[in-house]
This record gives sequence, C-alpha cells and structure tokens, in this order.
Amino acid sequence: MDWPTRYDNSYVPPVDQPYWFPELETMDPEKRLGIIMEKIQAQLSWAYAHSGMYQRKWKDAGLEPGDIKTLDDFHTVPIITKHDIREDQANYPPAGTNNCVEPSEIGRIHGSSGTTGTPTVLAIGKGDWNRIANAHARVMWGMGVRPSDTVFVAAPFSLYLGAWGALAGGERLGAQCFPFGAGSPGQTRMAVRWLKATKPTVFYGTPSFALYLAETAKNDGVDPKEFGLNLLFFSGEPGASIPGTRRVLEETYGARIVDSGSTGEMSPWMSNAGCTADTGMHLWQDIVYAEVVDPTSYAMVPYGEEGAPVYTHLDRTSQPMIRFLAGDLARWTDDECPCGRTYPLLPGGVYGRIDDMVVIRGENVYPSAVENVVRQAQGFSGEFRMIVSRERAMDELLVQAEYGTDVDSGNSSGLLELKTRLAQQLQATLGIRAEVELKAPGELERTQFKARRVIDQRNLLGT
Ligand SMILES: [Zn+2]
Repeated sequence: MDWPTRYDNSYVPPVDQPYWFPELETMDPEKRLGIIMEKIQAQLSWAYAHSGMYQRKWKDAGLEPGDIKTLDDFHTVPIITKHDIREDQANYPPAGTNNCVEPSEIGRIHGSSGTTGTPTVLAIGKGDWNRIANAHARVMWGMGVRPSDTVFVAAPFSLYLGAWGALAGGERLGAQCFPFGAGSPGQTRMAVRWLKATKPTVFYGTPSFALYLAETAKNDGVDPKEFGLNLLFFSGEPGASIPGTRRVLEETYGARIVDSGSTGEMSPWMSNAGCTADTGMHLWQDIVYAEVVDPTSYAMVPYGEEGAPVYTHLDRTSQPMIRFLAGDLARWTDDECPCGRTYPLLPGGVYGRIDDMVVIRGENVYPSAVENVVRQAQGFSGEFRMIVSRERAMDELLVQAEYGTDVDSGNSSGLLELKTRLAQQLQATLGIRAEVELKAPGELERTQFKARRVIDQRNLLGT
C-alpha cells in the first residue's frame, strides 16, 4: 500500500457517474475497514516517528504503534482534544511538536478562529493540501457538483479554513470557482449583485450567512430564487441539518441543501458530508476515520445511538490528528442510503457541541433545538437569542425572537398570541418553561459568519 495516498491529479470521473471512486464508495463496509486499518497503522507509525506530542502521550500510556494490530486495539489509543494541541503549542511555540514534516514542506499556515479559547496554529504540508483538494473534490462530486458548475464561495478568506477547503475541492474537481469571501463591510449587498450578475449554480457558506444574504437581497427587492442556484452546501454551524433551518433555506433559495464539515484540525474537513439523497451526512470513513463514542467513557456507542465523534486522519503527514475528540454531538446509523454509498450516516448531522449545551434547571438544552422551534414557528423571522440567568437559585431561560415583517406590530393581542404560542412550542420541545420576549424585525444583530446565540449570564456573574 502506498502511504500517503498518491492521487492522479488529472483524474475526473465521467459526468454521469455518481461516484468519484465507485469501488471504494460502495464496497462492503467490513472490507473497507481492512483498508482503513492498514492506513491507520501507517499513520500511527508516521506520527510516532515524527511527533513529540504523540511520543509523550503514548509513552505515558505505555503504547507503541506496533501494539496496534486490530481496530479494537486502535480504539484504546488515547483520545486527544484541543487542550492537548493548545498545551503543546504553548510549551513549544508557535506550532508545537506535531508538525511531523520539515518546515520547508509546510505549504500553508492557518489559524483556528479561537471561538472556543486560545487560537491554535494549523500548519498544512504541500502534499497534504493536494490530498485535501482531492478528497474535497470527491466529496463535492458526491453532493452532485460537476465541472460544468460555478461554485460561489461566500465565506471569509482569512483564518477560517472552510472557505479555502471548499475552493480547493471546487478547483480540483474542475468547476469554475468564484472565491467571493464574506465579512467585509458592504460585502453582503455586493454578493447580491454578483450572484444576480454571474448566476453561479453552487453556493458555499455558513447557514447564518445564507439567511442574512437572503434578507439583504429581499430588502433590495431581489428574490434569492433569481440567483438560480441549484445547490447550497454548508459547514461551520449545524443549521443545514436542523430541519426548521434547512426548510427555510430550501424554500428561500429554491435549491438543494447539503450539510458538511467536521473541524479545521481534521482537514480534509469535508469527510462528514451529505450526498444527493438527503439522508443526513455520510462519514466518508476512508478519508477520515470516525468513531462515535460515549463522551465520558470514550467507548464506542452502537449504531442508532448518540455520542461524540472521534476523528482520525488516514493520510496526513503534517499535524496528523489521531483520535481527536472535537466536542461535537451526533447520532450515527448504518442505514442504507439510496445513493449506494456504504458509509455510516449521521441522519441529523452534527447537531450540537458539548460546549454549547446549557444545563437549565437540570435539563440539557441545545441551541440547535431552540433554533429548530423558532425557525418552524409561524410569524417569526427565525432570528433569535437565548439568555440564561439565575434568579434566587433558579435558572431562567429567556428567548428573544424577532417577529416577521408581515406581523402587525400595532396589534397587541396578536403579538401576545404569537408570544404565548412560541413559549408553548418551546416548552413542549425543551421540557422546561422559557420566557419569550418579542423583538421587532431587524432588531437582533445579524452575522456574516457564525452566529453566537447564547448569552449565559450565570457565568458572567460567577455564580
Ligand atoms: Zn448517500
């Protein structure tokens, strides 16, 4: 076996072929696990030979790569988290001891956006970047993207790896790419004009941004359906897998919606991604191997159950991640998919992060659950914010939600009815009482990137 994988950079399948690598994508999953295991062993040996971080970690655990002979053995390798990477990079600045390739081989430096703590350096080798492009092209092919498409990449071209990864995949696939970006002042209105003028067929961004873009278009008298998009694919937030949000996106743009993405550290991050069958996200196991585990014991949970995905690179020479716990939550299944791929599925996508969960009066509440209720509720714009506070030792949840532009703001009994109905729907879903505060259309701040919807005042007060 060649390791790392060598790709033919000129290969593109016939356009009517649904798969990029038909055999690999549709094979018996057990047989595929055999191929994966060989890659795991090569990846472990590489990491052990070149990474101070893994040498220390595995020596502490009394482990040598030669001990790992089966997948069951592999499932006992110590988990790593962002904390391990941060610690390594703090002790050995700036990029830590896990680069594993010569500095001259590093082709790209990115940085995590630091939304959940100290930012980390993401260093990617030139060979790895090429393999990432090949993997993303393959996954985007599975979403239905073809060389005749134009891909409009509407995410920030800065620290966020998402935009760069989508561009790399689109270019490798042979599509026309428009690296438009997002986030600069005035850029959203500009996006409306460019989308109208250039009529791309595929859009990539975050769900929050696509919703903001649609609102901006409508304010300028443009129906987002006029853009003529066939497919919008997303990462960065769970929105595209939240049924309420997904439906709003579908109806607003009149296009197919596909969710994708794990996390920047795991690039090729598109190894979680939907196909053309609308069944959730596949775990493209031969690109990045994923297990779904119990978040406390790290034991693998059976298909059908919820847990935390743990990801392992199979083809990364630079900064390989081996059993990386990203802190996400998902339910996995081995249900058959009409697309014919035999990868496991995440039917509800990655619907939450362990960090995002707030415990209110003993109940676990996920912002994605609130989002689903608000986006499906009649009479609301879909924009919301959650404020958690504590009064006399009692947690309170306040949901601020904007009513829609079609609601008569002078009709106080109508507004009261709207508010009561949303509070009832929230209670039915969350299992706890939530206070609702109505906001006028446009009152809540919009984002051009990832939305931050939870304000936990209990933490601010140190209680
Ligand atoms: Zn499928």
